[in-house]
Amino acid sequence: MPSKLVETFGSMDKVLPFLWIGDRFSAVDKMALEKFGIREILTVCSYSVQDEQQSRNIKYHHVPLDDSPSQNILLRLEEMLHILQESIQAEKNILVHCEAGVSRSAAVCCAYVMKSKSLSMKKGLDHVKSARFFICPNEGFVKQLEIFEQLSWSAGLDTLNNSPIYRSWLLESGNHPMTEEEAKSSLFIQTLKSDSKDLARYRCIACRTDLFYDCHIQQHMNRAEKVCRFGFLIDPLNWMELGQYEGKILCPKCSSKLGSYCWGGRVCQGFDGEKCGAKVRPWFFIGREKVRLPLPSQPLPLPSQPLPTLQNQTSDIKAE
Ligand SMILES: [Zn+2]
Ligand SMILES: [Zn+2]
Repeated sequence: MPSKLVETFGSMDKVLPFLWIGDRFSAVDKMALEKFGIREILTVCSYSVQDEQQSRNIKYHHVPLDDSPSQNILLRLEEMLHILQESIQAEKNILVHCEAGVSRSAAVCCAYVMKSKSLSMKKGLDHVKSARFFICPNEGFVKQLEIFEQLSWSAGLDTLNNSPIYRSWLLESGNHPMTEEEAKSSLFIQTLKSDSKDLARYRCIACRTDLFYDCHIQQHMNRAEKVCRFGFLIDPLNWMELGQYEGKILCPKCSSKLGSYCWGGRVCQGFDGEKCGAKVRPWFFIGREKVRLPLPSQPLPLPSQPLPTLQNQTSDIKAE
């Protein structure tokens, strides 16, 4: 394709000095690539530029992304921004492209603009739009860019793992674990630590094994704006078998049925005549009658002891 077409249809546009955005044609248009001095290409669609279409003097990177609202871009954002940063700092022109140069590549370029200029999602998008007026990242990407802004332009694993807004986006967008293996390595799963002796412990009524602590209970309000007392809705814990979208929760020791779970969430029915109707997501429910409550006179943690990490990870839990 002659470079004239690129100019006419603008399939490759300059976002910042050394940063370009384009569609799949621009990535194989050797004349245009040479004309604009492109030295590196970051492909963010499912296929990479084929070997026979590659230029010898261009370095190619590939991060496969779907143009779907549930596609997680935050997980690989740091890696992509690092590629851009290296090239731009070395004053080498880099082209970010997807299929049409509208959604995926625009989201990645927007994140770079936001981070490098400390801009909001909206201002970042405006900037990319001023270079390429028809960009339109899908709504899932926009939401993730908003989260990126709220996380002060950081998407490191630790930052993400500790971010309640990121967790709730994962669940809303259907990015909950789908297999036992994913669940095990998932950031949602809390660990029951045997050294957390000072926490109020809730145990199996049948075999007295520890099931969860105070800090794992997720409270919500019912229609009367009171704390709902429907069973125990808790965090997913490492002793649960969570290989499915929904299923039963069994005691890890005696296998009695304790309750049920559903990653997608359920509507709470309320308790004892108090109507609720809150949507709880994810839903990890344990019946009150299945649990031996902690003794009322639990000793408080000594002030000199550091707080267990469990508590730090669950931000919206009532403090003891
Ligand atoms: Zn048991
Ligand atoms: Zn409720």
